[in-house]
Formats: sequence, C-alpha cells, structure tokens
Amino acid sequence: MAPSGSRSIKRGCQRVLYWIPVLFIAVIVAWSYYAYVLQLCIVVYLLAYHVIFLMFVWAYWQTIFTKPMNPLKEFHLSHSDKELLESENRGESQQEILRRIAKDLPIYTRTNSGAIRYCDRCQLLKPDRCHHCSVCDKCILKMDHHCPWVNNCVGFSNYKYFMLFLAYSLLYCLFVTATDLQYFIKFWTKGLPDTQAKFHILFLFFSASMFSVSLASLFIYHCWLVCKNRSTLEAVRAPVFRHGTDKNGFSLGVSKNFRQVFGDEAKYWPVPVFSSLGDGCSFPTCLVNMDPESPTSSNSASKSSAEGRHQFPSKPLRESQSRLLTSTPSWAENESAADKERKGN
Ligand SMILES: [Zn+2]
Ligand SMILES: [Zn+2]
Repeated sequence: MAPSGSRSIKRGCQRVLYWIPVLFIAVIVAWSYYAYVLQLCIVVYLLAYHVIFLMFVWAYWQTIFTKPMNPLKEFHLSHSDKELLESENRGESQQEILRRIAKDLPIYTRTNSGAIRYCDRCQLLKPDRCHHCSVCDKCILKMDHHCPWVNNCVGFSNYKYFMLFLAYSLLYCLFVTATDLQYFIKFWTKGLPDTQAKFHILFLFFSASMFSVSLASLFIYHCWLVCKNRSTLEAVRAPVFRHGTDKNGFSLGVSKNFRQVFGDEAKYWPVPVFSSLGDGCSFPTCLVNMDPESPTSSNSASKSSAEGRHQFPSKPLRESQSRLLTSTPSWAENESAADKERKGN
C-alpha cells in the first residue's frame, strides 16, 4: 500500500478515536438525565432542571461544533512572496521579507528571539494570539487550548461558548447535588425504600458532586483568565511584543476584557450565540507606542505616560479594534477603575 494511503487511514482512525471523550461525556449526561427525570423524579424541580439542562447541552453543542477561525487571507503569503521566501536560505534575509509583509498588518507580537511569527505549515504570518494547533493542523485565531472533551480547538470563535459550557455544567452539577442531597441522606439513615432508584440516586449524588469540584476549579481559573485577558497559552508563556515580554499586554481593564469575550449587550451574555468583539486577527494592545520602530512612537509615548498604560496602537485601527476601545462611555473612568484595582492589590 502507498505510504500516503496508510497515512490517511491512520488519520481517519485518529479522527474516530478523538470522539471517545465526547461520547463518554454524552453517555454520562444522558444517564444523569434518565436518573434524575425518570428515577428520582422530583416534580417541583423538573422545570428548573430542564432549563439548566437545555442551556448546558446548547453551550456544549456550540463548543464542539463551532469551527475554529483561521487567519484572514491577508495574513497568507502571496504566491510571489512564497517563491521569494523559498529562494532565500539565510534566516536573516527571510526575516527581512517577512518584516516587509508584516509592516502593513496589525501584528505586534514576536517570537522569543524577536522574529516575525511565521507558520511554515500554513505559510502565513501569525496574527497576534494565533497559534498553530498540532491536532487540528491549522493556525487557530486567539487559540486558548485544544480540548479533548469537546474534540475541538477552543479559540476566538468558541471561547464564549466554552465559558458558558463550564458555567452551565457547573450549575447543572450543583443543582443535581443540592436537590439529591435529602435522598442521599435518607439512604444512609435507611429511610429510603429498597428499589432500583436507590442505585441511581446514590451514584447521581457521587458523580454530580465530584464533577462540581473539578468544574468549579476550571471555571474559576477561566474567569480569572477572562478578567486578565489572557488565553491559557498566554498564561503559560507571556506574549512577546516588539519591546519585550508583557503578560498584561492585551489587558484593557476587567470590564473591557470581559466584554471582549462576551460582547456589549448584556442580554446575549448568558446565551450561547456569538457576541465576542473584534475579528480575532487583531487586538488592542498596550505599550505598542513605546515601539522604537514606529514613526509615531515619540509623540504618542508622551501622551501615553500622561494617560496611563493602555494606549491605542500606533498602526491604523481597524473598525473592530476601535469598537473594542471606544464602546464604553468613558475611557478614563475605566482606567481609573483598573488603577484602583491595581493599588488595591
Ligand atoms: Zn499554522
Ligand atoms: Zn486544535
């Protein structure tokens, strides 16, 4: 058999295997539904139970089946640039070519050595916060992590869904634990009739309370990440800007950070529909005006010291970026709030 044929079979098998964790979760959720609704069956709780259950399944579905977003066409190398890059074999002259292309793009981050971030596999300049996922074999915008439990990359396109999935699954487990508690106590005080339901009630309580603990820690961690405007990858390794590493490089203050993920309209915050701000390719950053390469750096740097850390990028802003920065009535108000928080700490 041709090596390419066996490789595609191997990839096909892998693709099937990747669904096993998702199937595992689906079976547990289906069983919990059966145990709660048909075995435990506490009529007064059933309406609230179904609302939480539906929101949870909806958010989970969206996290799994929302395709991760890839960089826009303008970040891909043109045919002539590709040829030019391949003809050069010195790293420095390749960087020269990449730097020329990057000039017109809203790219502020660099590799650890200060080079332009380039993906060899996708042949594109990586937008800020974009990373190549080895499982998906694609560059993913604002990649957070590749999650085996949803068999999908969590990134710009589905991070809000992922947060809601964590929130609703935690709420679901807490609700089941709380309403099942009285029957669980009855079990130990031998007040429960010896029926088939007994087994389900017991295991429902165990599994829901155990999942509650792990989901709560994951949810709290991601709430912290949202407040700090960091992805999981950025929390592990801080982004490198042209002027150096800055773990708070994308942070605009808690309120703006939250709205970057959940959007401006509060009515959409709890609903798993897309409402994140921006285009996923460019993000407002602070400190970019200190960049010595930038022609406008000198005058905006003085402005920056007067107004605080978070400044508008020196390159022309895209509409999506300006919206991220100007959506609140007062920039100064937010800044002072962030300052207060910093002082409080
Ligand atoms: Zn890539
Ligand atoms: Zn992935």
